[in-house]
Amino acid sequence: MKNALIILAGGSGKRLKKSNKTPKQFIKIGNQNIIEYFLSNLDKRIFDIIVIVINKKLVSKYTKDIKKEFLEHNIKFVNSGDTRQKSSKNGLTYLEKFKPKKVLIHDAARPLADNNLFKKIINNLDKNKSVIPFTKSNDLIKSENIKKYKNLKHIQTPQGFNFKLILNLHKDSKFEYHKDDSSLFDDKKIKIKYIQGNKINFKITYDEDLQLFKKLISTKKYGIGYDIHKINFNSNKKLTLCGVKINHRPLDGHSDADVGYHAICDSILGALGLKDIGHYFNNKNKKWKNANSKIFMIFCKKQLELKNYKLINLDVNFICESPKISKYAIQMRKNISEILKLNTKNISIKATTNEKISFIGKGEGIAAEAIVSIENE
Ligand code: ZN
Repeated sequence: MKNALIILAGGSGKRLKKSNKTPKQFIKIGNQNIIEYFLSNLDKRIFDIIVIVINKKLVSKYTKDIKKEFLEHNIKFVNSGDTRQKSSKNGLTYLEKFKPKKVLIHDAARPLADNNLFKKIINNLDKNKSVIPFTKSNDLIKSENIKKYKNLKHIQTPQGFNFKLILNLHKDSKFEYHKDDSSLFDDKKIKIKYIQGNKINFKITYDEDLQLFKKLISTKKYGIGYDIHKINFNSNKKLTLCGVKINHRPLDGHSDADVGYHAICDSILGALGLKDIGHYFNNKNKKWKNANSKIFMIFCKKQLELKNYKLINLDVNFICESPKISKYAIQMRKNISEILKLNTKNISIKATTNEKISFIGKGEGIAAEAIVSIENE
């Protein structure tokens, strides 16, 4: 066996807010936690075996969703120790029987380490016993004892080692509280090869790091919706557009025929990759006869929450000869804002006529289109 990877995921995230009881590597962002994010981007072909050192009680609780993926690759779980060093040692001891030549030890709290860095370290291990990535500070560093801080390096993981050597150093070490594995090399004054790391491979330690990580990996999606209804000239009911009752001939439809809400719903469902509104609220179903379309909007808001997405922006456009939409736009934006919990400044209501062309132009119907942008939380 040639290359092994140890991922240290035994930490408890003590420096994150106390309200956040989940260990940081298991905090969910979108539909996956931090360690799942790392694994899904890792080119697993680089390694013959991957060992995740983790508090074994947590394995089933936090990793059940991706177990199948683990089994497809050679990924094993090893119980963590009560210090980082002991966890490293547990991982290395487990690997002993596989006799890997090179081992990389990585912190699960650095989910943005990229595949090129792993490959670079492995290549450098051909001629070196230890390869450690580092970055330099952009900021001016001040200290009472400035001489001590000359050539300051920010040490990162993954750290690469000759397997036999790092295993023996761990076995011989009397001290159990080293903050990284390269420190065991420092103790014995064994030469370390330092290579350029990546600043993006930062460690999630504090809440602001978690916020930065979320920003970096957030994905935006967009959805479009369109709807059109005929005017019902035989009804004396009011017209409903985006929840606003308007003194105007109403639209014909199974529900309240709120063409604005219907277009918005379809845009949200589209952004989420779901089916159209008719699929969820069939117009053959008596239950939705004359239904208030607010119900459909609430349903769509719920779908966003279920998929961990939030709305960023919504743009609605009506196409009709009458009524004059601008008169009602403020109230429409308020109604939408209330249901979707989206600030009115991010909601736009516009309208255009159809220049008297075709059936909308003749005032026989009203159409609405909506475009929405959403972002995962
Ligand atoms: Zn409709």
